[in-house]
Parts: sequence; structure tokens; C-alpha cells
Amino acid sequence: MFRELTAFQGKKDHFELLCFKCKAKYEIDDYGKFYHCSKCGSLLEVVKTSNYSSGTKKRPEVWKYIDLIPLWDEKNIVSLSEGWTSLVECRNLAGILGLKSLYVKFEGLNPTGSFKDRGMTVGVSKAVEQGYKNTMCASTGNTSASLSAYSSRAGIRCIVLVPKGKIALGKIAQAIAYGAEIYQVEGNFDDSLRIASEICEKDNRILLLNSLNPFRLEGQKTVAFEITEQLGGKVPDYVVIPVGNGGNISAIWKGFRELFEDGVEGIAGKHSSEHLPKMVGIQAEGAAPIARAFKAGRKDIDPVRDPHTEASAINIGSPVSWIKSLAAIYDSGGSSDYVSDEEIFAAQKLLASKEGLFVEPASAAPIAYIWKLARAGKGDVYEDMKGLTVVSICTGNGLKDPNALLKGVTPDQLKTISADAKSLEKILA
Ligand SMILES: [Zn+2]
Repeated sequence: MFRELTAFQGKKDHFELLCFKCKAKYEIDDYGKFYHCSKCGSLLEVVKTSNYSSGTKKRPEVWKYIDLIPLWDEKNIVSLSEGWTSLVECRNLAGILGLKSLYVKFEGLNPTGSFKDRGMTVGVSKAVEQGYKNTMCASTGNTSASLSAYSSRAGIRCIVLVPKGKIALGKIAQAIAYGAEIYQVEGNFDDSLRIASEICEKDNRILLLNSLNPFRLEGQKTVAFEITEQLGGKVPDYVVIPVGNGGNISAIWKGFRELFEDGVEGIAGKHSSEHLPKMVGIQAEGAAPIARAFKAGRKDIDPVRDPHTEASAINIGSPVSWIKSLAAIYDSGGSSDYVSDEEIFAAQKLLASKEGLFVEPASAAPIAYIWKLARAGKGDVYEDMKGLTVVSICTGNGLKDPNALLKGVTPDQLKTISADAKSLEKILA
């Protein structure tokens, strides 16, 4: 099943597969035979050792950055034209929050409605390149929607584990539509991921595509390149991100580091910026092991045994990429905090009603956090942030989870009128 990929040595020589913690080196094409470092048990990471240039024509999406992505042969690309999502300047909201400059990177505009598509286009292309016929993931919803879409496009089987009763209706509808094999686990997300990991570690015919898969993060890092291009070659000062499993914040930080440590053709040269953004990771109060670790100044986490938040995309108590996400927060000089569900839903409405951006609840967590700081009107992070450029990553589309919002609708917001103009005229007068 593992394909002989030696023909592509030229590009391969520019990448390595290393342990994130102890830096043990592994054969990059063997990924999938194992998921963790055999020496220390930590996560693996793809590291670009030098710049590669294929000289091929650049596409207008994630694959625009193909030279920075460890896929050996272009013909294995499985794409839905993901990436190049809008970076929306939010002047109304900046005014309300007391910021000079606020942008929303609206990742809900990706083909399946979330940032996961950036990672899945790479993860599934890599699965095709290595000859896999089966993919699997555990999911709070967005991952399953994305993996099932890309797997169906690739013509390979997709097995999805979701926590029963804990995923948004729109997301499960997507996985059903894309034709995934879905199993509802009587447990939470962490239980689902534990089962998926056990199965994939035993059965080498199935590739696990959760965010511990380092190839997925190689796709997700492209958001850093895009933001910089969209800001005319400037890096933002702050990037505020919802954190569930911790993969995305580490991927975006990796992207910014690659951009300014090595330079990326057409965006920025080596050392062209003296500073990198501060990465701020926001969690929901009932599922905040990373934020709590940061607040206590710790380098490890206490998993939350029974996580609970209505923001289902970040309802994760035992984040698999905690080590990478804490590193991103500390190394960037960033921060981490949590917000309540009430604050999340208020921020979701604020973003939609003031800027026309309807995001899923988890995606509103960064705005909820900045709003919390603005209301307090003080604190080092807020004082620093006020005069700078802040980008909030809004990871998923609001249409995926309308139920959460509709629960709070009052009859006053949905009035009924009789079928003649007069009755409406009366109300509007
Ligand atoms: Zn190791």
C-alpha cells in the first residue's frame, strides 16, 4: 500500500519529519505507519529545511504555495479551490471595541464552510500520494464535513466518529451528503479521538486525519501567508484564534515563522520584518485546559474530563496539539484566555449585526475576548492591542449551526402579519 516515492527526491530533500519535542528524525514517507515519536511519544512535525522552487505556474488558492507544502507530485492534488478567503476590515466593530485596526479572516468562506479545508486538501492529497484507500477522523463537526468532502472527491472511503448528540446539525448533514460512513460515539470528542487513534495505529490501511497529522497543519499554515499578502506585505501585530484541539494556532504560527525566517517568494524576503505577530488563543470557559495552563504560567496542561460549551467546535477537554499550541503562545509572546458561552453568543450577534459576518459560535470567541478586554478597559494586552493591527480568525460559517442562535430568538424578532400591506403599514408607521 505504501507507494515508492523515491522518484521525487528533489523536493523531498527540502523537508524533514521530526519529533516536535525531542527532534528525533523519521522517514517522511512513512508517516501513517505511526503517529507519534517512538522515542518520547510526542507529536511529529514537518520541517522545511531549505526553500524549494518548482518554477511551476502558481494557482490562486492554498496550492499557490505548493513549493512550501510537502506534496511530491502535483498530479496527486485533491482540491476544491480552498483558501484565499476574505480578510474583512471591521471599522464598525473596531470603533465599538476601541481598537485602531481590526480585521476578520473569514474562514467560513472555504468550500465546506470552515478552515479545515486548508488542511484536508493537503492531508487527502498526501493520502492519495501514499496510496491510501481509507481515511478516518474523530470530529466535533467541521473536520468530518471537510474530510468527507475531500475523500469523496478523491474516490476513497471516509470513516467518521462523532460524539453522539454533541455536534451541530448542519455539520452532520454535510458529512451525510458527502457520503461518509458515520459512527456516533456514546461519549465526548476526546473518547472519539482515542478510538480513532487506536484503530489507525493498529490498521495501517486507514490514515488518521485529525490535527495531530502534521501534513494537515502544512495546509493550515497558508493562512499566515495569505493574511500577509492581503495586508500588502505587512504582518498583523496580533492574531486572535479560537482554540479547541490546538492544531490551527500552531499551524498559523508555523506559517508566520517560515515566512520571516526563510522568506516566501512574492510575499516577503528573509528577515524583512523585525517582528512576528503575538498569537492569542481563546477557549470556552467549560473547555479551557490551554488557557488555564497559560494563566498559571505552566508548560503542560490538566485535561478537562467533562468539557462543556455550546460552542461545539471547541468543546474539547484533552487537546491533542496542546504542546504545539502552548509553544506558539509562549514563543510569540502572546496570550491565552477563556470566555463564557454567554459572551460568545453576544459576540456572535455583534459581529453579524455590525459587520454582516455570520460565524459559528466558536468563531466568535476571539471577538468575545476582545470585547471583554474593552469592557474592562484596562490590562497590558488591551493597552498594547489598542493602537495596533489585530486579525481575528473566524474559523467557521454561522450557517453550520443555526440552532444555537435560533434558540435565543424572541417572538418580537419574528413577527407574523396578515397577508395585506395595510397591517405592515400600521406597524411601520
Ligand atoms: Zn520525540
